[in-house]
Amino acid sequence: MLTIIEKPAQVRDAVGEIRAGGTDVHDRYRLGVSSGPIVDIYKLSADFGDITQNADGTVTIGALVSIDAVAKSKLVQEQYAGLAESADSLGTPQIRSAASMGGALLQRTRCWFFRHPNYTCYKSGGDECHARDRHNPNGVVFDAGGCVYPHPSTLGMTLLAYEAEVEIYGKGRRPIADLFGDGSDPTRDHLLAQGDLLTHINLPTPTPNEQTAYFRSIARFEAEWPIVECLVRLVVEDGVITFARVGVGGVAAVPLRLENVEAALMGASATQETLERAAKVSAENANPLPHTAHKVDFLIGTVLETLERALEV
Ligand SMILES: Cc1cc2nc3c(=O)[nH]c(=O)nc-3n(C[C@H](O)[C@H](O)[C@H](O)COP(=O)(O)OP(=O)(O)OC[C@H]3O[C@@H](n4cnc5c(N)ncnc54)[C@H](O)[C@@H]3O)c2cc1C
Repeated sequence: MLTIIEKPAQVRDAVGEIRAGGTDVHDRYRLGVSSGPIVDIYKLSADFGDITQNADGTVTIGALVSIDAVAKSKLVQEQYAGLAESADSLGTPQIRSAASMGGALLQRTRCWFFRHPNYTCYKSGGDECHARDRHNPNGVVFDAGGCVYPHPSTLGMTLLAYEAEVEIYGKGRRPIADLFGDGSDPTRDHLLAQGDLLTHINLPTPTPNEQTAYFRSIARFEAEWPIVECLVRLVVEDGVITFARVGVGGVAAVPLRLENVEAALMGASATQETLERAAKVSAENANPLPHTAHKVDFLIGTVLETLERALEV
């Protein structure tokens, strides 16, 4: 059954899984791992389909804005360059133009056991993780003890590093970190309640003189989730790093902000030595699986590469 929502309030009475661009939903329904009624929200583009700069300088992105529109937005390119760069790096041109910002944050895990109709895992109603004891080179580097597949959202990681907030219909705003939690609940990809409608993403005012970069280590040119990805935002004044935000994806059950790396950068001279030291800190709490030890090196290398690109060294 398909319900097409035309006004946000209708979502309260609608029964079924919300569909925005459908690039994740359709894949799961086609595979037979998800089923039941669909609640299509595409017509809410009229309400939640714009990128707007507010009077106080903050920027609001509607949940139905496409990833491609964010990547190509002059406003985003000029004021949140790392967001534009990461949006432009994921999936394929077709995916970016069909997929919405809301769906990018709320997509389900890409674990092949979750997406196999013959397996039931934590995230599909079971009580185990089939990937844990099997060959699983794409798994996490920071093992929280439950699901060992990394969170898939590139833009979740990016928006975490931008300290964005998300707005839920009828429930107000919350920091994006609260959308994902700490990953300790292996049954969840995000912490929205069933039927909650994400309406907007709010970005704080741009940070003056920020230097940013996004980089992904990936097994092929496109159409693949990264092995590790990183978003860096830095401000350097008189040769000293005075502001640092570092996000990483592909390594944990949730997108991560690496505050230990940020602490290693803040107040230090903007030198190659500082960047190398800070990149090594990224792995200090790593507890990889038997098949993901190689990703520790990818993590350090990806963070270092992104730091170097941000500072153009
Ligand atoms: C080949 C390939 C490569 C990819 N590479 C990457 C990558 O590197 N990084 C990455 O992040 N993604 C990647 N993706 C995934 C892609 O980004 C997602 O499929 C897409 O962002 C989902 O957006 P959508 O609008 O199509 O979501 P949908 O498929 O419509 O929805 C996804 C989920 O979000 C929920 N949802 C959607 N919008 C809302 C809302 N407003 N409120 C409440 N719930 C909502 C839906 O109920 C559903 O559970 C890739 C996909 C493919 C096919």
